[in-house]
Amino acid sequence: MKKILVVNAGSSSLKYQLFDMENETVMAKGLCERIGIGGRVIHHAGNHPAHEADRPMAHHGEAIRVLTELLTSPQFGCIADMSEIAAVGHRIVHGGDLFNKSVRIDPGVIAAIESCVPLAPLHNPGHLVGIRACIAELGEAIPQVAVFDTAFHQTMPEHAYIYALPYEYYEKHKVRRYGFHGTSHGYVSARAAQILGKPLTELKIITCHMGNGSSLCAVDGGKSVDTSMGFTPLDGVPMGTRSGALDPAILTYIAEHEGLTFAQISEMLNKKSGVLGISGISSDFRDLHAADANGDARAKLALRHFAHCVKKYIGAFAAVMGGCDALVFTAGIGENNRLMRLWVCEGLEYMGLVIDPQKNDTSAEAVVSAPGSRGSILVVPTNEELVIARDTLALTR
Ligand code: ADP
Repeated sequence: MKKILVVNAGSSSLKYQLFDMENETVMAKGLCERIGIGGRVIHHAGNHPAHEADRPMAHHGEAIRVLTELLTSPQFGCIADMSEIAAVGHRIVHGGDLFNKSVRIDPGVIAAIESCVPLAPLHNPGHLVGIRACIAELGEAIPQVAVFDTAFHQTMPEHAYIYALPYEYYEKHKVRRYGFHGTSHGYVSARAAQILGKPLTELKIITCHMGNGSSLCAVDGGKSVDTSMGFTPLDGVPMGTRSGALDPAILTYIAEHEGLTFAQISEMLNKKSGVLGISGISSDFRDLHAADANGDARAKLALRHFAHCVKKYIGAFAAVMGGCDALVFTAGIGENNRLMRLWVCEGLEYMGLVIDPQKNDTSAEAVVSAPGSRGSILVVPTNEELVIARDTLALTR
């Protein structure tokens, strides 16, 4: 029995994928959304037609009941009974400095995830309701595992994760760099080593996870030694709607001159900035390329600024590791946006990274560096759910 349910619970949504780990295939996947404010489910399984319906879901427990019904339904399902599920793996955004790997969930782990709520107030509370709903609805007999976005980065040395603030903020409030997207950075760096046929322990890899949220990671010998996201997922390169790193003095200046509160500043940095903020058009890179093609100067500026910032981190991380054997692109933009890959790689020839424009014409897993390029450039589609399923299986076997 090797069926693993992967759950990513947010405050009003619950994404799920059911894996058959005999062959690592997805049997079913779906999304329950508008939990608590109505309820809607979108569900796909095998060859059944996709099913989409309004279903009242007052809380996450009811979402678990809806997905149980769909997974076991003759019309839309793929299993006879939920007892076929060996374990449930949960994606958890923030494990603070408490978790450096995935763990079986027990009351102590739940309390520890709870203690990280102040570090991720938008994410961890949703994960906790998801965990509790699974335990309540599926029973204690089905083990649950927590897989943390932060865990992979716990190998960062102290000098990389400390901020140059009064040290007591680190001691009292745990203000330090944590990093996110760890499951993705870990997966694509390991996969890149496999594709290149070289031991991961001997490679210096820079992974560029570029989606709605984007982060880069310096992976030295398989370990994260630095990453662009920080105390929160706001740091680093600009994103769809998030600012990325900026001069911190801008915040007090804007607050003073625009009369903004802390909450408004936070909303501005998270929801109104990034490429949306610069372009005034969209957070979606496809819209920006379309606008750029129509001559919109601010769309072009937003795209060029993004490429510039990604390139700056590549240079910084190569300096941190003393070189870069492989540059890996992943996530929505990293996998699909060929032009952005070309722009990011423009001018990296000096460090031995030369992209091949023909090979780059792909969205699939591929080595896209030119013949003769000292370092390799790769596109590796990420699969965070599969990593969660693998860890869950390994911890509950
Ligand atoms: P999330 O962080 O929400 O998982 P994704 O990884 O799906 O986000 O990335 C979303 C971004 O990927 C969007 O900016 C979108 O424009 C870009 N993207 C997705 N598919 C394509 C595509 N086929 N071509 C260009 N860009 C794409």
